[in-house]
Amino acid sequence: MLRVARVLAPNPGVRELEGTNTYVVGEAPAIVVDPGPDDEGHLEEVRGTAARVGAIVLTHDHPDHAPGAVRLAALTGATIHAFRPPTGGSRLRDGDAVSCDGVSLTAIATPGHTPDHVAFWNETVRALFTGDAVLGRGTSVIDPPEGDLVAYLRSLNRMKELDPRTIYPGHGPIVFDPARKLDEYIEHRAMREREILAALADGARSVEELVQTIYSEYPADVHELAARSVTAHLLKLHAEGRVERTKRGDEATYRSIQPRACARCGRPVRGKGPLCTKCSVEALQESG
Ligand SMILES: [Zn+2]
Ligand SMILES: [Zn+2]
Repeated sequence: MLRVARVLAPNPGVRELEGTNTYVVGEAPAIVVDPGPDDEGHLEEVRGTAARVGAIVLTHDHPDHAPGAVRLAALTGATIHAFRPPTGGSRLRDGDAVSCDGVSLTAIATPGHTPDHVAFWNETVRALFTGDAVLGRGTSVIDPPEGDLVAYLRSLNRMKELDPRTIYPGHGPIVFDPARKLDEYIEHRAMREREILAALADGARSVEELVQTIYSEYPADVHELAARSVTAHLLKLHAEGRVERTKRGDEATYRSIQPRACARCGRPVRGKGPLCTKCSVEALQESG
């Protein structure tokens, strides 16, 4: 058994859904996951729920998750653990464990939403605290350059490999069918990629034109967020050598290109060189 209590922060919004989920894990002393914004009333509720706070961990350094940590640490004397901790905090690395009275949370590097994003894993009950990498409802925001879709897809697969029984997301309801949720997340991004490539099949398009085509049934006020997501996909496809950046006047446009075949082995080449990664490495080794 692992005691996990959720305390909802009073910061609802488009990205925050009902607000940030702060989790109190274990009992006196407890580990607090993401204290949320620096809100006195919220932090009092967290303290009351925890009885005693032994450690504070942060999934990432965003204003809806991290700022409350400094005040909570000052009030309780607990140490803040994060990949990018505030002054005085402790810097976590992938695989590090934070333990309190028999409860242990292991840091799982899950970059993508941000470069410093980390999920926390309790092996005993197979619980995963996912911050903004997986939400209880809707999809995670991948907003370049902070957001990186290539890293994010890798992180989704890494979380899937853990095979969690429960996901405690940074926003929205607790997820009791994590395998399905993670498959949905992976498939959602694959579907967007197909839509973008299909829209580019008719010729070069700007980000705005792609958003108009793909998100035509969504209200205009989500189009800005959608444009960030489309940009994230285009950066991935560009890195893979599957789209090319072109120009139409001052406006950047993108068009799809056939990946070139490797000059040695014929497999598709990612990037600009004549050889695939494997053959490039071999060529380097041969030339000593
Ligand atoms: Zn965030
Ligand atoms: Zn968030």
